[in-house]
Amino acid sequence: MKLSEDEWKKKLTPEQYHILREKGTETPFSGKLLHQDSNGDFVCAACGTVLFHSDSKYDSTIPGLEGWPSFADAAKSDAVELTDDNTFGMHRTEVTCKTCGSHLGHLFDDESSPTGKHYCINSAALDFQEKQ
Ligand SMILES: [Zn+2]
Repeated sequence: MKLSEDEWKKKLTPEQYHILREKGTETPFSGKLLHQDSNGDFVCAACGTVLFHSDSKYDSTIPGLEGWPSFADAAKSDAVELTDDNTFGMHRTEVTCKTCGSHLGHLFDDESSPTGKHYCINSAALDFQEKQ
């Protein structure tokens, strides 16, 4: 899925555009999905691909990372793409949507996670689809 930056700007809200297309980060504890604990799928806000299931969402205990939705695993291993990110003088792993290339958040190690992995994802990069 390839859109021009102008087309993305029309499709997304300014906040979504900043996060998804300019690799922005939402303010901690501001996201609409931080406490979304219903059963369902978290999909890419840009292209609608299912990225995470609600059963992998958990509450991280890492100080500084608890302000964004946390997932232990992706819905499918090929739903997201992981790349090295060395911006801001830190070594981190960036998480992007494999379908549309949009920025979602970062991946960290986390002993409090069931898988040892912590997908720290911006609420604004996701939409939630509730399942009955
Ligand atoms: Zn996407």
